[in-house]
Amino acid sequence: MPRLGRSEWYDLTRDMNWTLSYVDEEQAWPEDLSTSYGVPTEKWWTWDEPYKITFPEYVHNQAGKDAAVYAVNSALNRSKLFEQLDPGWKSAILAHYGAIAVPEYVASIGEARMGRFGRAAAWRNMALYGTLDETRHGQIQTYVPYGLLEKEPRADWAHKAMHTNEWGAIAARSLFDDMFAANDAVSTAIQLTFTFETGFTNLQFLGMAADAMKVGDVDFSSLISSIQTDEARHAQQGEPTMKILIENGHKDVAQGLIDRMFWRAWKVFALLTGPSMDYYTPLEHRTHSFKEFMQELIIKQFVDQFRDFGLELPWYWNDHFLQEVDWLHHAYHMGVWFWRPTVWWNPDAGVSPDERDWLEDKYPGWNDSIGKNWDVITRNIRNGNPELTLPETFPMVCNLCQVPVCTPTGFAMGKLSSPLPITLTRGDRQLVFCSEPCHRVYVESEARLGEHMTLVDRFASGVIQPATLPGALMYMGMSFEDLGKDATDYAWAFEERTTRLDKAS
Ligand code: MN
Ligand code: MN
Repeated sequence: MPRLGRSEWYDLTRDMNWTLSYVDEEQAWPEDLSTSYGVPTEKWWTWDEPYKITFPEYVHNQAGKDAAVYAVNSALNRSKLFEQLDPGWKSAILAHYGAIAVPEYVASIGEARMGRFGRAAAWRNMALYGTLDETRHGQIQTYVPYGLLEKEPRADWAHKAMHTNEWGAIAARSLFDDMFAANDAVSTAIQLTFTFETGFTNLQFLGMAADAMKVGDVDFSSLISSIQTDEARHAQQGEPTMKILIENGHKDVAQGLIDRMFWRAWKVFALLTGPSMDYYTPLEHRTHSFKEFMQELIIKQFVDQFRDFGLELPWYWNDHFLQEVDWLHHAYHMGVWFWRPTVWWNPDAGVSPDERDWLEDKYPGWNDSIGKNWDVITRNIRNGNPELTLPETFPMVCNLCQVPVCTPTGFAMGKLSSPLPITLTRGDRQLVFCSEPCHRVYVESEARLGEHMTLVDRFASGVIQPATLPGALMYMGMSFEDLGKDATDYAWAFEERTTRLDKAS
């Protein structure tokens, strides 16, 4: 084998484009899968990834990462580590596994589509690594919870959730299908890698790995850090794709793709990460509130990136998005806790007196707004009437984000001017939306979204039989053992205030 220096062969192997002669462009790169936006082929060939790696280097690095995760896991599996974790933290990781493990595997389809239908060889080369990355993420995030089955049977939801019609699974699936399972190569680069991975998950995974270390979950921390290093690399397919769109006069296309997907991603992010950070993570191990995390990391990074690319902030930024950062996840958390039998983890109320002090400190006015609802719930638990804190009906569900509509709570918290959702009539269907951006994203993507039914649409139209709460739980794939309960068996309702939170320090 010839011994050439890396620099002598690298460019040839990473970026070999050629002019087609046997077939035409449309046959090789059909618009539906590839979407050139009219940018000429030679312009796509200027695509240049900021992070360069050869295939032998890639294989070497990945083998090392896998060996490290599996070694930590095999050592800790024989320990009592999982049993000793805080119940709220266990809930956070069970929720994470169900919502994320299989979608990571599905993301390999989006990466493979870029690997075949991306318009430049350098891009297809990067996407090949991305395909292998996401396959690995699906594998290790189903393998590690598999090892927990004897201790926690619902770790099975790491594999099961996305194959069910559980409502959170429907919301996540709807988002991820739009973002990468059913998306063209260019939109996937902008919406999955730039908007979702660079914008949300890269920073979230860094934070989550650090939090896991603090609560003593070394196993989860090593798993999440290992994944994050891959995401940081393959997420860099977004920037060069965006540059080409902008240089060729399609800034509006890039802007629209980001605006729509940032909003959709925000909703599921608030649903999953909001309660985990502000209610499930043990108080003594919290570094940021969810709002601080959004402001100091996610929002700051996005604003910087928009400025660097000369893009505008999304139209809903000030009047809708920044408003929701203040309140939405508190409403989602209360809803998830109240409808706890409909989720595969045990929601941690997280409203003991000390925790309420922390919430009031981070969200001034918390006690006088959403805290009042928790006052009633706490009283019912203390009076021995937990049945009054369980659901008998279903909420309305937003026809875009597939998450229950929380406008009455937003209104009661003084954050919205009306408790009513936005409605839209389509034939004999009455659609409801939780917010103006969800309404507008729906209208802009209507042809693409089709007549997808929310869980409540399915209930009302007779798809779910029997049309009762137990019938719906069965439809969602929830067995009796799966039904979520309060994480600490209501211990928080009987706790006394301690002096642990010393405000002066
Ligand atoms: Mn991944
Ligand atoms: Mn990824």
